[in-house]
Amino acid sequence: MFESLSERLGGVFDRLRGRGALGEADVRAAMREVRIALLEADVALPVVRDFVEKVTERAVGHQVIKSVTPGQQVVKIVNDALVEMLGGEEGGAAAELELGVTPPAIIMMVGLQGSGKTTTTAKLAKRLSEKERKKVLMASLDVNRPAAQEQLATLGGQVSVATLPIVAGQQPVDIARRALNAAKLQGFDVLMLDTAGRLHVDQALMEEMKAVADVSQPQEILLVVDSLTGQDAVNVAKSFSEQVPLTGVVLTRMDGDARGGAALSMRAVTGKPIKFAGVGEKLDAIEPFHPSRVAGRILG
Ligand code: GDP
Repeated sequence: MFESLSERLGGVFDRLRGRGALGEADVRAAMREVRIALLEADVALPVVRDFVEKVTERAVGHQVIKSVTPGQQVVKIVNDALVEMLGGEEGGAAAELELGVTPPAIIMMVGLQGSGKTTTTAKLAKRLSEKERKKVLMASLDVNRPAAQEQLATLGGQVSVATLPIVAGQQPVDIARRALNAAKLQGFDVLMLDTAGRLHVDQALMEEMKAVADVSQPQEILLVVDSLTGQDAVNVAKSFSEQVPLTGVVLTRMDGDARGGAALSMRAVTGKPIKFAGVGEKLDAIEPFHPSRVAGRILG
């Protein structure tokens, strides 16, 4: 992830850094290259435009160009703008889940089929139970995909997290109610609801999610999207965020060779922070998403 972007930006900035003096034309020429690099990384066009405009405006400032190290100053401006683009400094804190309520805290997981939603549910449950010593219950509300509920139960066994017993034929909203009761009665700190995915965003999926959110009143509604799908991931996130009050996004397959567009466009296009990144198939392969660290990695 980000490798080719990082390489291209590295080339642009090495040239800038090496110069003693910079004129406005030098900055503009560098920004043209930055623009191409971002577009090649599959960042959404309006996001690229805003970014380049913002950086250019800050970088052609008199003080920057006339400073002793103009190249380095420009790189710092780009770094800061990248951090903002990735969700800002507060993105680090936003990575924390909102669990400060009378238990159980409800986390609802939504997303398309194949995005990694069920795996991510188990990864987060493992993290909460091991790192934060939370007593977690997981429940699968996916009655469409055969064996989805069994898949979550198997993952629960692997991460030593309880799953709601399966009742054949029960519908999602009823499963959610039963899960909520079980979590309250049995003193769970966190209840994770793994909702059904579909192959495409459709109205039936949205209605089902809204109904589940109504009965469970989640503190967190996390959308799981596959970073390998690039701009599609951002479009999916946009559709979901227009229909349900998402609190954040989990980008999966960040270990793959995605060009970075999804991560870089997500905040600007959806207004939602990326809270976690999935970085592998193993059940501990998930990391909080820190904009400043990611920006640092892109700029090398
Ligand atoms: P769902 O249909 O959205 O619930 O998707 P699953 O959770 O069943 O995941 C589909 C496949 O993606 C599984 O083989 C997972 O192991 C894999 N997967 C999920 N997250 C990641 C990730 O961050 N990196 C990689 N490499 N694979 C992932």
